[in-house]
Amino acid sequence: MKKTLFFLLACALISPVFAEGERNPESGLSFRQLLSRVAVSNSSLALPEPEAAVVKDDLSLLADDRSWLTVAASDKYQRTRLLELGLDIVEIEKGVVRGFARESAVREISAGGFRIDDKVSIYNFDKDFPLADAAYHNFGETVEVLKQLAAAHPDETSLFSIGRTVEGREIWALRINPAEKGTAPSARPGAVFMANHHAREHLTNEVALLFAVWLLENKNAPEARKYIDTLDIHIIPTVNPDGAEYDIATGKYRWWRKNRSVNAGGSYGVDLNRNYDARWCEAGSSTNPSADTYCGPYAFSEPETRAIRDFVLARPNIKTLLTYHTYSELILYPWAGSAEPLENKTDLKVFETMAKAFAGFTGYVPQQSSDLYVATGDTTDWAYMQRRIFAFTFEMTPKRWGGGGFYPGAGVIEKVVGDNIKAAMYMLSVTDDPYKLAR
Ligand SMILES: [Zn+2]
Repeated sequence: MKKTLFFLLACALISPVFAEGERNPESGLSFRQLLSRVAVSNSSLALPEPEAAVVKDDLSLLADDRSWLTVAASDKYQRTRLLELGLDIVEIEKGVVRGFARESAVREISAGGFRIDDKVSIYNFDKDFPLADAAYHNFGETVEVLKQLAAAHPDETSLFSIGRTVEGREIWALRINPAEKGTAPSARPGAVFMANHHAREHLTNEVALLFAVWLLENKNAPEARKYIDTLDIHIIPTVNPDGAEYDIATGKYRWWRKNRSVNAGGSYGVDLNRNYDARWCEAGSSTNPSADTYCGPYAFSEPETRAIRDFVLARPNIKTLLTYHTYSELILYPWAGSAEPLENKTDLKVFETMAKAFAGFTGYVPQQSSDLYVATGDTTDWAYMQRRIFAFTFEMTPKRWGGGGFYPGAGVIEKVVGDNIKAAMYMLSVTDDPYKLAR
């Protein structure tokens, strides 16, 4: 099966994203027009050819005793408690939540007085990645695209590793800044896009990577040029390549979430989005190493989160940050780790204004992160606490399990990427001074 999907990025057709002085992105029709011109075509940068699926028996998959549970839970406090008991909450509906849990966690959830309405073994819904979803970029292909971009746009970009994973893979950052290269400091306002903290959220890697492709292929369009020439932009498409590769290594999805640390007791993986030093391992995290929401033995125990920590702390110019996750179609902002709203009302106004604008471009629902459930140790709380960065989590497509869950198929890539390019461009448009939104 040959599958070539691509985004043609016709520079000459691009019109300005926002008119000069325009404050309200939701009325920016020219912006929508711009994105409507992201056409599908054969382009110089083709997606890789699909590889033959390598399907083999995998004993570690057979040893995976997780089930997909539906559990009655009426509010965020019950949901937070379920996270602590080891339920990896993926979906929330009125009165119930759904997610993964190991057998030991299932017992604890029952013992904790929760009603389990449904339970399906993980073996009943495996899917294949390499053939049906060949349009997705695995780690090797992602690195190849990043190298192609860096080679094709040497004046604007540099590509470097911000650290290595547990298994020794590089965590790559593509920098878009013609004035300063590599790790040289910059006084320009900084924007960071990162993805794939969670292994099975492969669509996030596509969004971050293809935004980089789009921005560089449109680098001479005035709207793109304005940001390239004034901002310090970094794109980190995969924070957890070990987990992402593990998830697809057998040709069947393994629904893997964490990294690939070997834990005390022999289980694998720490939840990287619970491992940041922001109220670390308080509410909404599990201390059980085999749980999908395991916070790790201590904050920043993992090389992947340490790489992000060191990257952010070394760059005091960063103003905005977007970390892509799937799924549920939500736009989330701090606090994640507290049920209380942000104390600083000016900052809260900026967060709310940005979230509402992001929603206008994506159709996702904006809300404070902890309105879902309280979950400590995530990227956005930490970035905001440390550096007052306006940091957002997107939970992208689909809206629910019925739309494919973590594996919505290659057919959604184009629309999700297109919608999210709009949101990403909006973030760039406020990165020079996010506080202008509160004035
Ligand atoms: Zn996630």
